[in-house]
Amino acid sequence: MSAPRQQRVAIIGAGITGLAVARQLSRQAPQTQVILLDSDTRLGGKISTIRQDGFVIEGGPDSFLSYKPRGLGLCRELGLESRLHGTSGKVRRTYVMRNRRLYQLPEGLTGLIPSRFGPMLETPLISPLGKLRMGLDYFIPPRRDQRDESLAGFVSRRLGREVYERMIEPLMSGIYAGDGNQLSLDATFPNLRKAEIEHGNLIKSMLAAKAEAKHSTPAAGASRWPAFLTLQGGLAEIVEAAAQQLGGTDIRLNTRVTRIAGGMPDGGYRLDIDRQPSLYADAVIVTAPAFAAADLLDDLDAEAAAALRGIPYVSTATVSVAYPLEQVPAALDAHGYIVPRSEGRPVLACTWTSTKFPHRAPQGQALIRAFIGRAGEEDVLAMSDSELVGLVRDELRMVLRITAAPTLQFVFRWPQSMPQYTIGHLERVRTLERRFAAHPGLFLAGAAYRGIGIPDCIASGETAAANAIAHLHHYPAAEEIAV
Ligand SMILES: Cc1cc2nc3c(=O)[nH]c(=O)nc-3n(C[C@H](O)[C@H](O)[C@H](O)COP(=O)(O)OP(=O)(O)OC[C@H]3O[C@@H](n4cnc5c(N)ncnc54)[C@H](O)[C@@H]3O)c2cc1C
Repeated sequence: MSAPRQQRVAIIGAGITGLAVARQLSRQAPQTQVILLDSDTRLGGKISTIRQDGFVIEGGPDSFLSYKPRGLGLCRELGLESRLHGTSGKVRRTYVMRNRRLYQLPEGLTGLIPSRFGPMLETPLISPLGKLRMGLDYFIPPRRDQRDESLAGFVSRRLGREVYERMIEPLMSGIYAGDGNQLSLDATFPNLRKAEIEHGNLIKSMLAAKAEAKHSTPAAGASRWPAFLTLQGGLAEIVEAAAQQLGGTDIRLNTRVTRIAGGMPDGGYRLDIDRQPSLYADAVIVTAPAFAAADLLDDLDAEAAAALRGIPYVSTATVSVAYPLEQVPAALDAHGYIVPRSEGRPVLACTWTSTKFPHRAPQGQALIRAFIGRAGEEDVLAMSDSELVGLVRDELRMVLRITAAPTLQFVFRWPQSMPQYTIGHLERVRTLERRFAAHPGLFLAGAAYRGIGIPDCIASGETAAANAIAHLHHYPAAEEIAV
């Protein structure tokens, strides 16, 4: 009798999710052959850092939330804890644009629920009538039915349209680049609905949170980290360190998977690959964006492919520019500013990177990053790079009175990059989970499903890896499969 062959797992996509899968597999199933495939020429997907002339420039994500465990957890396991930086403690404020002027965002809007009365009552961003409307929250009964609703619908219903348009919409846009009238409350900010159900309204929920904070002593081991973390040399450090911990993983870049076929004799899958021979895998973890995953699954499962296509994506771009500080007349005294959609401007947010993360620029230099493109406003991305830089320069001339040409400029385009958790998203994800359960050994992970941020992506990759390992134990390989 011949010995059973080595089992093989294929991971499609080598962004942070795929890397988390590969790392977990190489640690917990070292006897398994792991193949990591990506159509791009580099690892990391949306994580893209450039280090130049003492600047650290992020093209995609620039930090991650410290209170979601797997971002910080993975950094620690990769030996990167001493490399972590929180946002600068010296300056904490963020501005919001209104009628082309900047106003401070009231403090305490954690998780989009106002957690302090004072700043909300004092802010000039909301009119006296808007503040009165906000107070009506206390008297509005909670919605009883269980249907999903839009984020805009919920906030407008509870706190009024003004609070939504002037504060919550631009905050939400900074995360999803989305349209709050389309985004699902249940999938994006379930804490808001939970607060309404548990306390009847948001004001009572805020009071309850305050009372609890007053009476509780900080838990031992409570995080000493600020809410947002990054690394000395940029988030690419995570990618670089993870790549060092992939054991014998067979990394194949420039390798685009075109189709996943089932019905193999050993219960596994055949992966068709553009311009290369197909390969067989006992388990497959798909971490490519939902629309790319849909193309792979058309033949295997039309219902899953349709559910994947039901997750829309928005295209965005980031433009980073640098100036000697003496060329910046205005004080960069905030982490940056966000721009409500109602302002009708092409830039939706601007990070004053050298203030938010001072280590990212050499002494005496300012580094600024603008975000362009959001749901329904993606046409701007048809502009050339120099036009996009021109548009950002116009913005900075108006807001910061900068007239000089930047000494450094980088444009990063992110076509179809931001998955939109639209109304009914969780139902679509449940459909996907049901469909994937019908294909043992096939798993889905990544930003499109249950969390778009880096810690959620890592967690979803690690869960998929654990499920794949359990599957391999359950279905040991028999003999060599010819494909
Ligand atoms: C501009 C921008 C700013 C962001 N800012 C933040 C932030 O500050 N903090 C934060 O936490 N999150 C942020 N995000 C979100 C976060 O970056 C992403 O959700 C996360 O990086 C996605 O990781 P992923 O591995 O799931 O997907 P991806 O990084 O998209 O990786 C998927 C990989 O699949 C590959 N692929 C696609 N099709 C195929 C195929 N057919 N065959 C083989 N390979 C394929 C792609 O080449 C890609 O490398 C930001 C996103 C963007 C675009």
